[in-house]
Amino acid sequence: MPLAKLTATELLGQLAAGQVTSAEVTRAFLRRIEQVDGQVHAFLKVDPEAALAQAEAIDARRAAGKPVGRLAGLPVAVKDLLCTRGEPTTCASRALEHFRPPYDATVIARLKAADAVLLGRTNMDEFAMGGSNENSAFGPTSNPWDLSRIPGGSSGGSAACVAARMAPLAVGSDTGGSIRSPAGLCGITGMKPTYGRVSRYGLVAFASSLDQIGPLAQTVEDAALLLEVLAGHDPLDSTSVDRPVPPYTQTVAKPLDGLRIGLVREHFGPGLDPEVDSAVREAVAIYTSLGATVKDVSLPHSKYAVATYYIIAPCEASGNLARYDGVHYGHRTKQPADASETDSALVQMYRHSRAEGFGPEVKRRIMLGTYALSAGYYDAYYLKALKVRRLIREDFDRAFESVDLIAGPVAPTPAFPLGEKVDDPLAMYLFDLYTISTNLAGIAGISIPCGFSSTGLPIGLQLQAPTFEEERLLRGAHMYQTATDWHQREPELEIAS
Ligand code: GLN
Repeated sequence: MPLAKLTATELLGQLAAGQVTSAEVTRAFLRRIEQVDGQVHAFLKVDPEAALAQAEAIDARRAAGKPVGRLAGLPVAVKDLLCTRGEPTTCASRALEHFRPPYDATVIARLKAADAVLLGRTNMDEFAMGGSNENSAFGPTSNPWDLSRIPGGSSGGSAACVAARMAPLAVGSDTGGSIRSPAGLCGITGMKPTYGRVSRYGLVAFASSLDQIGPLAQTVEDAALLLEVLAGHDPLDSTSVDRPVPPYTQTVAKPLDGLRIGLVREHFGPGLDPEVDSAVREAVAIYTSLGATVKDVSLPHSKYAVATYYIIAPCEASGNLARYDGVHYGHRTKQPADASETDSALVQMYRHSRAEGFGPEVKRRIMLGTYALSAGYYDAYYLKALKVRRLIREDFDRAFESVDLIAGPVAPTPAFPLGEKVDDPLAMYLFDLYTISTNLAGIAGISIPCGFSSTGLPIGLQLQAPTFEEERLLRGAHMYQTATDWHQREPELEIAS
């Protein structure tokens, strides 16, 4: 089996046993990137020399009998919104095209401390705003299963690179579904941990009360491995929670006895593609065959989730993105001030810098958020949305009184064609229907592959768990992967010579 086809857990085993070196593993993934990323465009930047230098340094330490970290020698791709000292961190935006952070995000520091090899920076929707990767200022990523289709977003590059076997592991962020949705559409495993589980320090903020970093991988076992490295309290992020991180990899293979699964009544209504509907129901039947019991639960306020999210997220974004004014951060216009304008030269400079730096979706969010927060509308929109958010959380609390995990679809349809929804923001927003309430409630969710459409496109199963029950979520998801092999399928891509 070629090295690039192995799971992270398998690679780690071979590295630890001295059967392969990190340089060999890294070279295998770099070669794969060369062969297929011309078609997929999952990466914004790969620096082969730097990756190999890291790999060789780790090999040398291992050969000298020195201690090595948890991910020693394993390549990991990271979404291009995690600040990495001295490395471009663009958020797929012209505004940050030349930004090189002077510090590492906590998750980057953790990956470095674990001796991971930082393989490259993955493509995404600009500032993580989007669900198709088409909002990248540097061109979209394609779905490796069908290059004419979206990979999902906003962590589309992270999902596509794992699906196409260009990286064994990738890090993404999920504000309203941005890990789970692309994982589902690309046929891999992706997890959004509980809000507060992983430090957001150094994650370029989109909507601070919703953003959370998490793993993308071929298998649940691999996701458990990466989460173990990423998770944990961080004094630099006051919303990160000071709770011990369970050893997920040690428990992931233990099945959940007496598992009670909830099916959300409201998730199986109109708008759900019949093939997705039946794949999800068949997945639930697998759980039943594994001894789980299934019952209907209701999340009555979930019908307001899209509207609530698309007020709260833009409100927070409008504040967070104020810093990209060409002075504090970001692209600065070269356009000279026009003395005949009534605006001062400074205001003109801000205006041009932001107009040139941001793409249309980011501008739309800033305008929506600024409007909803303005005097007179704050109570009607923002405050009301916060109240509904609470009701959505209470729905989950109630549901989790009688079930251990909630199961349902990740996305209403398989991946749609590139370009299909670019002119229809509302249709794009509605695609997030099943994922965003997880973020609004702050709970944990995972997407695992559960089948294919008749046209060969992957379908994802979403499982949700109460706050800080990642261990339960991973064990429950792994159970399914012991009984199925959807996660072992891989797309066929032409190899560029
Ligand atoms: N698709 C959602 C949005 O556009 C979610 C994005 C995300 O999770 N970062 O906001």
